[in-house]
Amino acid sequence: MKNRPTETAKVLQDNLKHCTLCPRRCGVNRLAGQKGYCRTGAQPVISSFGPHFGEERVLVGHGGSGTVFFTGCNLRCVYCQNYDISQLHQGEEITIEALAEIFLRLQARGCVNINLVTPTHQIAAIVPALLKAKHEGLHLPIVYNTGGYDLPEMPAMLDGLIDIYMPDMKYADSSTAARYSDAPDYPRVNQAAVRQMHRQVGDLVIENGLAVRGLLIRHLVLPGGLAGSEQIFDFLAEQISPHTAVNVMDQYHPCFRADEYPPLNRRPAKSEYETAIAHARRKGLRLIQ
Ligand code: SF4
Repeated sequence: MKNRPTETAKVLQDNLKHCTLCPRRCGVNRLAGQKGYCRTGAQPVISSFGPHFGEERVLVGHGGSGTVFFTGCNLRCVYCQNYDISQLHQGEEITIEALAEIFLRLQARGCVNINLVTPTHQIAAIVPALLKAKHEGLHLPIVYNTGGYDLPEMPAMLDGLIDIYMPDMKYADSSTAARYSDAPDYPRVNQAAVRQMHRQVGDLVIENGLAVRGLLIRHLVLPGGLAGSEQIFDFLAEQISPHTAVNVMDQYHPCFRADEYPPLNRRPAKSEYETAIAHARRKGLRLIQ
């Protein structure tokens, strides 16, 4: 399904009456105040925004990545590093017009892109805000920075609006995804979504040191091999592209309820990270930091 952006905005708004915007397919009427798994209404809810210098170098440049953190999530990762925002719902409800204004302010401050952090469950509010901001001069690349639990058909809806897809690939195994993120279908859905994202934007394109378009995968190495790193790298190299850009992240530390779920109560050993990254290299993937 491919729509013009204005039609997309309408389709997404209509969808809120019986929300199936993500794989949870709750079917609640968010326009009437009902809330589904993500516990989010129809208006945008954000926790913070500003230039961010901790992202991948190709997203930061001199001006920083223009990051907007959206409150809530459609996953329940027991080790979430942003649980205050995703699970405890710290944030403020704003209007679509205010969100558009934020995008323009980030551009005016010199940010090199607009980085939508956890946009999946708020996409119906984000699209009209992006359209308004683009109408008023927003020209930066737009980064869709997602936990990766996205409908495979969503990239087609967002064609022409998103320049860089940056999904997590958290797990290769269904029972692991069920236990730690309450999403047994995560591996299947995530791989299908990544396939569609890549089909739309291709491999990551970097110009003058900055990412301008394409797919950039984030993979957090978990202790005990829980993330299925090798299977994920095999999938990317063999079924997406041997040139797929991947950030293999080593910063896992126990957060939120991780202490209740050993071995998530410890950091990965250096050797575990090195084993994962050696496999990514063997597969020829393009490592990004
Ligand atoms: S976006 Fe929220 S309400 Fe809609 S299907 Fe997903 S979790 Fe349910």
